[in-house]
Amino acid sequence: MNKINQIILCIIDDVSSDHFFNLINKGRLLNFKKLMKSGIFSTSCITDFPAITFPTQVSIITGTYTGDYRNELCHGVPMYDWMERSVSPPILRSYGTYGSDERVQIYKINEDIGNKCQTIFEMVDEGNSASIAQFINRGTKYFFPERKTKLIMYYLFIKYYKNIKEMMIRANTIIVKELLKTFKTPSEFFENQEPPIISLLWFVSSDLLMHSFGYDSKIYELNLRHIDKVMGYLIEELDKLGYLDDTVLAITSDHGNYKANKIGNMGLFLRSKGLTQYHPRKNIKGNMDLAEFGGLGFFYFKSNNPISKKIWKYPNLESLKVYGPKKVNLFQELFKIDGTELMYYKDDENSTDKGIIYLKRKIPETNKIESGYIEYRGNSKDLKTKYVSENQNNDIFGYSDDALAFKLLDNKFHSIQEWLDVTYHANYPIYPDLLIRHFKNPRSADIIISTKGKIAYNIKHGRERRSSYYLHDIGLRRSTVVPLIIAGPDEIPQREISHCKITDIVPTLLKLLGKTPHKSVVGKTLI
Ligand SMILES: [Zn+2]
Repeated sequence: MNKINQIILCIIDDVSSDHFFNLINKGRLLNFKKLMKSGIFSTSCITDFPAITFPTQVSIITGTYTGDYRNELCHGVPMYDWMERSVSPPILRSYGTYGSDERVQIYKINEDIGNKCQTIFEMVDEGNSASIAQFINRGTKYFFPERKTKLIMYYLFIKYYKNIKEMMIRANTIIVKELLKTFKTPSEFFENQEPPIISLLWFVSSDLLMHSFGYDSKIYELNLRHIDKVMGYLIEELDKLGYLDDTVLAITSDHGNYKANKIGNMGLFLRSKGLTQYHPRKNIKGNMDLAEFGGLGFFYFKSNNPISKKIWKYPNLESLKVYGPKKVNLFQELFKIDGTELMYYKDDENSTDKGIIYLKRKIPETNKIESGYIEYRGNSKDLKTKYVSENQNNDIFGYSDDALAFKLLDNKFHSIQEWLDVTYHANYPIYPDLLIRHFKNPRSADIIISTKGKIAYNIKHGRERRSSYYLHDIGLRRSTVVPLIIAGPDEIPQREISHCKITDIVPTLLKLLGKTPHKSVVGKTLI
């Protein structure tokens, strides 16, 4: 008989692996330390591109990445803020409050995921399941908070609660308490007396504190210690209820973080180039959407030959060279945005299983622009990519300087696992694979630029938000490597996994339950 009957997966938002394991080593997270010693753990679990809450959490919960969600097995969520051009007029999606209708759109995420993948709840369909504060909850039998209005209230409550410490304590405690109710009195939540097989917990307080006060603030660490404390309470209570011996606890994060050197000011730059932000609700026609710009800027444009002003056809590369009323060459002009060092965009002929993503890098000292590209073949499950830089001795992602990574600068196609094995410890881990998956999604931007985190812009759908130096979108190690612990009964081997990826979590957890993952799952089991 299988001895593992329940899985509890906790995502602690916005915690870098180094930070988390440092606190464990300093003895400041004693419950997590205990868990780490009673199962497998990895200090190098690589998250998705971009390192933003969505899509990374969708990738964790579905075990697959984004891609051409209409034609291949993958999910459809490219970013937190993006533009949907398959409808007219296009929709501005934001899982915060900056979208077309300026209301919280987070509950639309379960639709956006698409039907070519499954959530972990759908993969254990016959059993009870609970999602506590986790919005990616398609297929769950119980969701807290129960109703959409309550959900939005809860979301706003966490975001704007006046007394920070009290917010932190209440937000963390409620997560564990609500979960425990489903173990104590299952029949109140489900049709039988069985506790949930799968439970998902989302601790969001850490992310809110990171953006407001920084990962290096006292309150941020205090909060992690409080989450450790409530996890201790959860373990104690599960023990009392007799569930500790057949329950697995998995802990991870969706992304790490970084601090920018400077807050950027776009001023009238875009306008001076004839680029104006689109906004459907305000009836502003515009010719672009700057969907999101922290250290990474995501630009959406429309074809120069519109059928009508309302329809946004995808632009081709030629039109992006003579764009807008001032006929600017965007591949040159966007590099003039202060701090911009990297640029990525897709080829006109790309299809689901074949194509090219172009890469450009500006050398800050000389302003010289170097080129490279990633070529791909295959669908989500058997994707292979080839990464080539104009200067192979000093490539765009810096792999040529790395004793492991340089091996794959060999002009050949490689799988995600091959990229992971040689880049997990480097900056821009798995990028030659992850960038392709991102750009395959028709909801991805036309041009992405990066300041490599040196300058932060804090823009969402063209609007500047409250400025923060503390972000997490870019590909540096600090933002992309997250902790992973999978702990529980003796069936789980006690060992360190040198490296893995966030999509490995779901297949590993399902294997422990004796269940088979959906065919879309890209990750592999770690046990
Ligand atoms: Zn996050």
